[in-house]
This record gives sequence, structure tokens and C-alpha cells, in this order.
Amino acid sequence: MSQAPAIVWFRDDLRLADHPALARAAASGAPVICLYIREDPGQRQRPLGAAARWWLAGSLRALDEALRSMGQRLILRSGAASEVMAAVIAASGARTVFWNRRYDAGGIAVDTALKAELAARGIAVASLPGNLLREPWEVKSGAGDPMKVFSPFWRAHQRLGDIREPLRRPTALAPFNGGLASEDLASWDLEPTKPNWASGFPEAWTPGEAGAQTALAAFLVGALGGYAEARDRPDRPSTSRLSPHLRFGEISPVQIWRQAHMAAGLDGSRDLTKFLAEIGWREFAYHLLFHFPDLAETNFQPRFDGFPWRDDAAALAAWRRGRTGYPLVDAGMRQLWQTGWMHNRVRMVVASFLVKHLLIDWRAGERWFWDTLVDADVANNPASWQWVAGSGADAAPYFRIFNPMLQGQKFDPHGNYVRRWVPELAALPKDAIHAPWEAPEPVLAKAGIRLGETYPHPVVDHDAARRRALDALAEIRDPSAA
Ligand code: FAD
Repeated sequence: MSQAPAIVWFRDDLRLADHPALARAAASGAPVICLYIREDPGQRQRPLGAAARWWLAGSLRALDEALRSMGQRLILRSGAASEVMAAVIAASGARTVFWNRRYDAGGIAVDTALKAELAARGIAVASLPGNLLREPWEVKSGAGDPMKVFSPFWRAHQRLGDIREPLRRPTALAPFNGGLASEDLASWDLEPTKPNWASGFPEAWTPGEAGAQTALAAFLVGALGGYAEARDRPDRPSTSRLSPHLRFGEISPVQIWRQAHMAAGLDGSRDLTKFLAEIGWREFAYHLLFHFPDLAETNFQPRFDGFPWRDDAAALAAWRRGRTGYPLVDAGMRQLWQTGWMHNRVRMVVASFLVKHLLIDWRAGERWFWDTLVDADVANNPASWQWVAGSGADAAPYFRIFNPMLQGQKFDPHGNYVRRWVPELAALPKDAIHAPWEAPEPVLAKAGIRLGETYPHPVVDHDAARRRALDALAEIRDPSAA
């Protein structure tokens, strides 16, 4: 009798190499069914944002192509995971299911229920680690508790020993010849059409495993050397831009870890250490999400529950559209809109501006990022927003309020980042570009700028906004704190 097939359920791990679930299925020798489910969002699952849907379409196409080159294909189905799985099992006679774990509460709930359901029907399920360097529960404080501060977390993480070797891409996958139907990707309407606001995305990105490997290789050759210094410069290609690839699991952190060590040669080099610490922040965000599942909704520090947020639809709209009158903020928000991504330094500045200058609840910003980022991530996005807002674990103190002009002068010293994304300011000299309202009238006139017409006046005055934010903070200050 021929061997019953095995199902590999692909989720946020759209790659073939270093894919524990696929590797195990391949090693079993059974015919392999590669399945992707467009899940009905369960109670606690977060529907994908629009930019991430665009990415997902490209990533699924790339995975299907890669599978076809091995005589396989990706089966696409929609519905509740348990129903889809039951239908595929009934149609194929599969006896085993493999998947790599996920760590958000909604995903965990679906997986746990499904595992029990399948086990009760005699179907073996293997859920495997694959999308983090270490499972979130492996890293603990001395007392065995979850960790809330990054540095000790990262030290404890590293004390656990060497990171495993990445798994090879399977050389062959026995095909399942039973003729399973697949839905048509185009029918999922993941990509925008009218209007096609993503028209600039393909120039900036190549979704898929090959694109991820190309991005990593380019970074290791071009920007790892000097990363520790240059990573804060949005005007340069100073970072890896791997975030959407990691978000969709087109590359694993284990692969990045290994290849970065090989490229850097010296284990202790400052650039390598700094880069790996950023991968460490991703690990930390997942650790937080696993232990504090309501990260996107609930202040990590409850005292922020009483924070006097303002409801200001006009200011929120100006921020979203990149029309606050603060050039660095506007450049970031337009880079986000046009490419689905923003440099980390600028993410911190725009987030701080929303929360502190405009006193708008961080959750409104988190949701906008969720919808517009191609790397919108269940863990990194809320953890970073709470970090900036001051409400998070190991957060930047609320009273540290970024000055967008000084941030611009320091990290975009020639103004080239602003020139690229806010073209109406392009003719301003570098000493005026980060604060056009302070520029003498002839300088503005020469650059063709009429404030309030060609470019907005600042939506708030920096000094007044700073004082207002500090007053708001005083309302929730812990009286026992020094
Ligand atoms: P690199 O500097 O090359 O870093 C390599 C990888 O490390 C990144 O791809 C990312 O996976 C990880 N990383 C880097 N910085 C951080 C960080 N601060 N926290 C967690 N992981 C990090 N990152 C996301 O992946 N998705 C998000 O939704 C997201 N939202 C954010 C929201 C705000 C308000 C802020 C301040 C940061 C957010 N970040 C998010 C973190 C960070 O800005 C991006 O990961 C980074 O800019 C991606 O660019 P890169 O791949 O070139 O980074």
C-alpha cells in the first residue's frame, strides 16, 4: 500500500530552507501536501492590514513557483483552519500534519484546539519551533519568571548556548498525486486595484525567499560593516530591510544569525553584535507577546490607563498623510505610504510625535502602522509603540520627548531624506530644511515655498506641545516614584 500523505501547513514561514515542518515531512518520505489557509480571523486573530496583504500575495506566488520547480504546488484554501484541515484530510487520506509554531494568543488558540481535534481522530500533529532563535518560554529570569527588560533578557538568551544550524532546503519532496483542488490566488483580492496605492511597492521590494536571501546578501556585503554607527541614518541604505521578509518567514532568524556570523568573521565585532541585538529585540517582542498577549490593546504599565489622550481627528489625519509641517515626521509618513516601510529612527520620531506632541493614543498609531507597513508584525509593532509611548516593558521614559528638528539635523544632516520624500521642500538649504518656519522669507521664496500653501505650518508648536505632554504625564505620575 502506498504511504499516506503528510500535510505541511505553511503560515508565517513562507520559505523552503530552514523550515522545520517541511524538513520533517520530507524526511518522512511520505507524499507531501503543501497547504496555505486564508484563515477566517478567529476571535483573537488580527486580520492582515492592507500593505501586508499586498506582500502576502507576492510571497505566496513566489512560494508556489519554488514548489513547482520541485514538482510540487501550494494548495490554497479559505475558511476556519479546523474545517479546511478536515476537508483536506478527508480528500487526501493524510495521516500526519506538520507546522511551525506561532506565538500570538489567537494563533495559539486555533492551533491548540486543532491539535486536540486531530489527535482525537488519530491524526498525528507535530508543531515545531522555527520562527524564532529560541522559544519564548525558554528564556527566563533566575526566579523562572518572564523577563521585562531587554538587556537581561538578551544576556539570558545568549547564556542558553549556541544557536542551532539552519536546516537545508529539502532536495526532493514526494508529490501527492491525488489531485487536490486549490483556490485561485487572484480571487483572494489581496492586491489593491482601483486605486492601486501599492504601485510604488514593486520597485522597492521583492517578496519571497529568493528576495529575502538577496536582501541579506546585499546587507552583509554592503552595510553590515559600519552598521553600529550608520544604522540611525535614514538618508542612507544603512539597515538590512529584512523586516517584511522576517515578518512572513521568508527567511528565518537562524539563517540570518548563521550567515551574519560567517560574513563578519569576528564573532565579537561591534557591528555584528549590534545587528544581532536588533534580531534580539524581535525575540524580546515575541517573548512579551507570548507572556502578555494583549500587547496591542492594553497598556503594559496600567498607570497609563488614566492618561489624558486627546481626540483630535484633524491632527491624526495630518499625521497619517505626512502634513504635520514637521519635515522629518512628514518624510517618514510619506515613505511609509509610498513604500510600506519606514526607517527605524524615523519610526521612533513619528511615533513620539503622535503620542507626545499630539497627545493621541498610541493605539491609533499602532493601527495605522498595522494597515500600512509591509512588515506589520503582531509582536514588533505593539511592543515598539508601547516602548515609544512609555507605557511598555523596558520603555523609553515618557518624559524623553524627541525634538523632530534636532533629530533631523543629527540623523539627516544634509536633508536628503526629507528632500526625497517631501519634494516641495527639496530646494531648501540644509540649515533650513528641518524647520522651514524659522527660515527667513527670502530663503523660502527662493526655494519656491509659501508656508500654509505649498507646505503646512506646524500643526503644533514644539515648545508648547512639549510642556503639554509633560503636564499630561504629571497626571498619571506614580506618587511613589522619585
Ligand atoms: P535592521 O536594522 O536591519 O534590523 C534587522 C531586523 O531586526 C529587522 O528586520 C527586525 O526584524 C529586527 N528589528 C530591528 N529593530 C527592531 C526593533 N526595534 N524591535 C523589534 N525588532 C527589530 N518592526 C517590524 O518588523 N514590524 C513592525 O510592525 C514594526 N513596527 C514598529 C513600530 C514602531 C513605532 C517602531 C519604533 C519600530 C517598529 N519596528 C517594527 C521595529 C523596527 O523599526 C523595524 O524592525 C526596522 O526598522 C526594520 O528595518 P530593517 O529590517 O532594515 O532593520
